Amino acid sequence: MNDAGADAGVNDAASAWTLTYSGKVRDLYVRADEPQLVLMVASDRVSAFDHVLEPGIPSKGALLTQLSKWWFAQLADMPNHLADAADVDAPAELADRSMIVKRLEMYPVECVVRGYLSGSGWLEYQESQSVCGIALPAGLSDGDRLPEPIYTPAWKAPMGEHDENISFERTVELVGAEVATALRDASLDIFARASAIAETRGVILADTKFEFGADPETGALVLADEVLTSDSSRYWDAELYAAGGPGRLASFDKQIVRNWLSANWDKQGVPPELPADIVEQTAARYRELIQRLTA
Ligand code: ATP
Ligand code: MG
Repeated sequence: MNDAGADAGVNDAASAWTLTYSGKVRDLYVRADEPQLVLMVASDRVSAFDHVLEPGIPSKGALLTQLSKWWFAQLADMPNHLADAADVDAPAELADRSMIVKRLEMYPVECVVRGYLSGSGWLEYQESQSVCGIALPAGLSDGDRLPEPIYTPAWKAPMGEHDENISFERTVELVGAEVATALRDASLDIFARASAIAETRGVILADTKFEFGADPETGALVLADEVLTSDSSRYWDAELYAAGGPGRLASFDKQIVRNWLSANWDKQGVPPELPADIVEQTAARYRELIQRLTA
């Protein structure tokens, strides 16, 4: 949770938006005259190993917002939470890093889909040869492509707690069989389509996380949150991947930051400030992904 006063200027008398929630990276604002809307603002904050780092990455919030909106447009037949036609505007200084969205009743399930084995999936596989209860072939290595994409949901833990990988059966207990099935089917469908689009741009979508909510009026399933950004997804360069070698799993996100921190910090106490060249390389990486996907 970040200091609610950090984004001064939005809460001044000129703006009707009030800060209601501050995550590690994003801030949510609401307004009394349009209670069905939420303003989601992506900051430049970058987090790694559960710490928000200093300084932020210039333009990160705007770039990831642009990418999210681009993906929503590619997936236009899937109902999403964008409410850009609303009668109200975002404050001008936040316009490029924000989305006005319809306030949904969010499901407490992080809808993770993996086309490749890496990250927490790889860790779980080494223990059990399965991920979220899905049995996988023996002998897979970090970064290997899975026979087919798998749905590996996580329970969205309350603030401050870690999300927890769960089985599909557990999601049925949480949201009921009908919704659990709809979440899984929509997630796998969007993942397949997004992977195919990324592939034509020489980018591998290794895994991603979606969040959905229910429209409060109709109950319909709506795609929410950010979609297919490098904060919510693992993207690899297809050429590097095919070439093999140590760089093949370099992801299009804060890998540079993580690597630098691992080499320069013992993970105790407050992390050191990021040097300017690491900040610039990370910003360039975010720009490159957008360029590759959307150009
Ligand atoms: P962390 O800091 O670990 O990322 P977080 O996921 O709670 O925690 P954010 O992702 O920054 O932080 O917060 C965005 C919040 O907004 C999430 O709780 C998400 O579920 C919620 N959300 C996304 N879209 C909507 C929507 N249309 N209506 C209501 N809530 C939404
Ligand atoms: Mg989140």
